[in-house]
Amino acid sequence: MKINNSIGCTVDECRFHAKKESFCSLDHINVVKHEKSARNQEATDCGSFKLEG
Ligand code: SF4
Repeated sequence: MKINNSIGCTVDECRFHAKKESFCSLDHINVVKHEKSARNQEATDCGSFKLEG
């Protein structure tokens, strides 16, 4: 699996996670906010996440 060393990620439940290493395998991800106005880290997430399987 390809590893993108520029995108660190610990979400190993995601089908795009590099598994053995804490990186994403995609060339590009979309980071999103899920509150109208992001005021803290918890208000942001990876919009490219897809559940394994
Ligand atoms: S798509 Fe997002 S959640 Fe999935 S491995 Fe890449 S950075 Fe992590």
